[in-house]
Amino acid sequence: MNDLKISIASGKGGTGKTTIAASLASIIPNSVYIDCDVEEPNGHLLLKPKINTEEFVSKLLPKIDPFKCTVCGNCVEVCEFNALINLKFEITLIDEMCHGCGACAYFCPEKAITEIEKPIGVIRRGITEDNIYFIDGLLNIGEVAAAPLIKAVKKKIPEGGTAPYNTAIGKGTSSYKKGIIAVKNEFYDSQIDNETTSYKKEIPKGRDDFDKNDFDNKIFSDNKSFLDNVKPESSSSEYFKTYIIDSPPGTSCSMVEAVIDSDYCVLVTESTPFGLNDLKLAMEVLKTIRVPFGVVINKYDDSYREMEKYLEESKTDLLLKIPFDRKYAVSYSKGILPLVLYPELRTDFFDLYETIKRMIGLEMGKVQSV
Ligand code: SF4
Ligand code: SF4
Repeated sequence: MNDLKISIASGKGGTGKTTIAASLASIIPNSVYIDCDVEEPNGHLLLKPKINTEEFVSKLLPKIDPFKCTVCGNCVEVCEFNALINLKFEITLIDEMCHGCGACAYFCPEKAITEIEKPIGVIRRGITEDNIYFIDGLLNIGEVAAAPLIKAVKKKIPEGGTAPYNTAIGKGTSSYKKGIIAVKNEFYDSQIDNETTSYKKEIPKGRDDFDKNDFDNKIFSDNKSFLDNVKPESSSSEYFKTYIIDSPPGTSCSMVEAVIDSDYCVLVTESTPFGLNDLKLAMEVLKTIRVPFGVVINKYDDSYREMEKYLEESKTDLLLKIPFDRKYAVSYSKGILPLVLYPELRTDFFDLYETIKRMIGLEMGKVQSV
């Protein structure tokens, strides 16, 4: 049995997405809550984990030595992300567009490019009093690209493993390096999956001696060493572990990065015209990336019926309606999950979890106990 990844997303901010995600995590024994809303992670305010580790994550940026560079343009040609510009007398880098893949340095015939680390954020891990494993990412102020950090956060989920917390720290590998590898893999993965042959095609002039196998071996060995580090201590075919992924709001690439490999996505909305508009956009994204989903209407009141009408017409599963109630808002404002104070909500979330499992065809009652 594979692990179960449930993402919680919303087309717009302020719908109560994090409250839903944290509530769901809190009723699942030994679940793993992963806050991928790295620009504004606030799951920790509700779950109050004891943070045990903090790891800094960097991406690699190229640094060009102007004394060695002949402005041949090879690096510009090979950059898939248009992060380098040839100004005829020098090459300039647009930091924000660079994915730190290292291709430019690899292909520079003059060895004029070295790579320097640029910190982009931190990954924090801990555990709550109720044994919820907690992971979140916090993007550095001023850093514009959240997706690489989200990817690094999600690399903490071992593939096919069942012991995510204790084994996610690699032996003899600095966390910095792991973060860098994770970011590099973003590029490598896309090249391997989609454009394996494009390298051959795009080898700049003068690099005919390029050995693609060597390059691929390098890619795979980096990837392999990372995955070795996160290999679980034990695995079980009978039980699965549940990961709750709290996605960034909206429908940007950060949201896509957070939800793309989920088994199921819960879209949280509110019954307002704005909620409905943004819900439709989020639904389109999920359909495009083929992630199954259902909807939770939070802060529900029956004065706006368009939402339910739309869900019915579009044959979208309405998973749960949480009524608007001032007491829930007061609880939230004090940093307390409403279901802690109001047991009727616990039942709702148990039902929600069982519904999700039913939707994706999982047997009930096989949740792993660590
Ligand atoms: S490939 Fe190297 S030498 Fe050529 S322009 Fe880029 S940095 Fe300069
Ligand atoms: S590291 Fe990759 S993305 Fe960045 S400039 Fe070089 S080739 Fe482009």
